[in-house]
Amino acid sequence: MITMKNLAEEELLLKGNSACAGCGATLAIRWILKVLGDNVVLVSPAGCVSVFQGMFPFSAFNVPMVDSAFGAQSSVSAGLAAAFRVRNKKIRVVTIAGDGATADIGFHAVSAAAERGDDILYICYDNEAYMNTGVQRSGLTPFGARTRTTLKGKHEWKKDLPLIMAAHNIPYLATMSVGYPMDLFRKVEKASKMSGFRYLHVLAPCPPGWGTDESKTVELGRLAVRSCIWPLFEVENGKLTLTKMGSRVPVKDYLHAQRRFEDLGESQIQMIQDRAGAQMSYLERLEKIST
Ligand code: SF4
Repeated sequence: MITMKNLAEEELLLKGNSACAGCGATLAIRWILKVLGDNVVLVSPAGCVSVFQGMFPFSAFNVPMVDSAFGAQSSVSAGLAAAFRVRNKKIRVVTIAGDGATADIGFHAVSAAAERGDDILYICYDNEAYMNTGVQRSGLTPFGARTRTTLKGKHEWKKDLPLIMAAHNIPYLATMSVGYPMDLFRKVEKASKMSGFRYLHVLAPCPPGWGTDESKTVELGRLAVRSCIWPLFEVENGKLTLTKMGSRVPVKDYLHAQRRFEDLGESQIQMIQDRAGAQMSYLERLEKIST
């Protein structure tokens, strides 16, 4: 089992990249690469990771990385995986894409790769908006969040992408948070030992986009889980298991910590509270009935 104590010392995402201080996506990917090791090829479309860390001809990654066209990351990854298979090369293909590239613009290709069972470890870092282009709303922006294109708060609920991906009957899927590194290590390690299309979705707080202090990233990752805004679970060969993470807190503890939610009224906060409770109950029912 990988812990903070025996986590690899080698850095595969180097210092000096231009991501913002306190970037949750950067922290998550740094940890993920430490678990995976260097026998990987990364594929990433335009987004914070490619723009701030791996944009050609510069790269902060100490492993090979392919910059794909926006939305084409799954297709490029599928091609690479097929080429490695034909040439009998045991190299992992790891796709790293943001919420916009995964849930919106690239979703058709993500769905197709999952349905075909392409041998890809797909990681969605979810900062809940198109951040590197200036904070425009995505399908994964939560209800009520203020962005540059939802100035009075988003009116729609966040797309439930993990369960949409679970409906593809893939061998492994998990939600993760930077607030719970040990859980993240375990899930990445488990996914890395499997083959086929595996999907990991990590909630990645973004200080400039969420209006938070850069020192609060890990704390927010915990609050998201404990408020049931971002439940942690895994689905392995159809069996859903919730990861229990301490006592619950009201959603207002999470929402009030972020400026993007500062215009929400009490009735909207109650709607979010009710929705989080209903979502948790639904997952608990799924856990009971899934085999
Ligand atoms: S905009 Fe947000 S997600 Fe992008 S690099 Fe900065 S903190 Fe990270």
